Amino acid sequence: MIKELILGISMLTNIAMADIDHMPINLGEYRITTYDVCCNEPHGRQSASGKTLRYGDVAMNDVPFGTKISIDGEMFTVVDRCGVDNTVDIFIENDTGVCQCDTLDYKEVYIVK
Ligand SMILES: [Zn+2]
Repeated sequence: MIKELILGISMLTNIAMADIDHMPINLGEYRITTYDVCCNEPHGRQSASGKTLRYGDVAMNDVPFGTKISIDGEMFTVVDRCGVDNTVDIFIENDTGVCQCDTLDYKEVYIVK
């Protein structure tokens, strides 16, 4: 009985540990901006990590390339670096010919494992 109880607790603990491991890490509030190909000249779609920029990619300092982040429940991947700190710059597709680089808001940013 005790053995089963200990085994049960151990299993619960393992599940809890796994959940904690997958908990998003709150980095706090970041300035959220957008950039497009025109703002990224002369690099165009070339990111600092070498990946070709697509929507869903972001520029951000202080975290490794490939880091997955979440903003308002939407997932992004860090593939580029930003000119300023405390900012997540979201790459957007823009074929309007008019620059769409803008500051959107301040939002909580989470690292997602
Ligand atoms: Zn632009």
